[in-house]
Amino acid sequence: MFNQSRRNLARWFTLSMGGILVLFAGVIYQIEAKDKVEALDRLLHDKTRVMAASVHYEVRQGQSQVDLSHVPLLGTGSHPLAEDLIYVRWYNAQGRLVRFFGASPPSQLEMSLGYLTVQSTDPLLEKGIWLRQATLPVEGRTGTLGYLQVATPLAETQQRLQQLQVALTLAVPIALGLIALTGWILSGFAMQPIRQAYQQLQRFTADASHELRSPISAILTNAQLGLLIADDNSRYHAPLENIVDSAKSMGALVNNLLLLARHQGQLAPESLKLTNLGDLLKNLVTQFVTLAEQQAIDLTYEPPEQLIELWADPDLLRQAIENLLNNACKYTPAGGVILVRLMPYPDWAVVQIIDTGAGIPESDLPYVFDRFYRVDAQRSQDSGGFGLGLAIARQIVHAHSGRIHVASEVGKGSKFQIELPIKPY
Ligand code: ADP
Repeated sequence: MFNQSRRNLARWFTLSMGGILVLFAGVIYQIEAKDKVEALDRLLHDKTRVMAASVHYEVRQGQSQVDLSHVPLLGTGSHPLAEDLIYVRWYNAQGRLVRFFGASPPSQLEMSLGYLTVQSTDPLLEKGIWLRQATLPVEGRTGTLGYLQVATPLAETQQRLQQLQVALTLAVPIALGLIALTGWILSGFAMQPIRQAYQQLQRFTADASHELRSPISAILTNAQLGLLIADDNSRYHAPLENIVDSAKSMGALVNNLLLLARHQGQLAPESLKLTNLGDLLKNLVTQFVTLAEQQAIDLTYEPPEQLIELWADPDLLRQAIENLLNNACKYTPAGGVILVRLMPYPDWAVVQIIDTGAGIPESDLPYVFDRFYRVDAQRSQDSGGFGLGLAIARQIVHAHSGRIHVASEVGKGSKFQIELPIKPY
């Protein structure tokens, strides 16, 4: 129970912290990508501004029919300004191409103004290479002189971002592993006080139940003695019978609580004995035959074809299976059938107790193994149950590293299955 809670705590811690981490890594990646693209845009902007200044100069010289052949940048591709640029294009105010270097561009400006990431269609360049392109207007005193369109490759930026991606892809799982480990250690600390409080509660329940046993048996003995003395017509007879019934019921409850409090967790190896499960079941079924006959229930035992032996505490195992058989008898009406089966599997022994009784509603199935859980309080009270029988059975099965399941349908019956590991000792 504690290990499961600890695992759950650690799992939730890892999931929540891992989610935050992945989100964080995504945000870092996005910020870095945005920064890099903005840096490229700034570079393109600065270069176009310098080129635009040359254009202004030509216009100021009075050559209003802008002769761009004198603009050094546009005349050659070797100018420092042209470094890192794939192409430079100069369009006039009407958007018609005037000059360019790089791949031959469309004769009419077709891209929208501003910064764009585009894929190159230039046959001279590597196929499909990604470019960052700026298309900016060049303003003169008389209005827009034209448009400068420049582009730079994105390859280096993409490579840097890929490196960051690889670094994050490696770092995130490592960080997740560390988070999981931290979660496991922290949940261990968090469970400590709960574990101590639970152990104290268990000790208290065990001590209180133990202390209550003697007074209850004293009440029972005295009431039974009183019953022997009082003759049937005595007015003390009925009250004494009530005392006997209540004391028996209290005694059963106290014994159940003591059993639950004493047998927590795995069993100590010295309490285990090599147990013949087939014999144990046969004896138990024989014990219940009379009760079943009285209730007109057909109780059958299907033994295995081979010997099934496992290391177990036979008294506890008997108690667990007895609780299931008791329930089958309690909740199966006259004319019903109870089948007890023992089946061997390579590493498991499987015990099934199948009845054609009242069944359990689907909504109650997940809770029937909880302490003090009763499907129908009235029905259980009538049959003298406290809702502890299945909780005890489950605790005993778990103490043997086994599993217990139930399948049931209202009005059709129930099937309880215990699976016990067969391991060498
Ligand atoms: P109780 O002592 O009340 O029988 P249990 O823990 O043994 O408590 O069972 C819990 C509840 O599960 C019971 O109240 C009963 O309603 C239901 N139950 C258990 N076994 C059967 C069964 N074989 N058929 C129908 N209902 C069952």
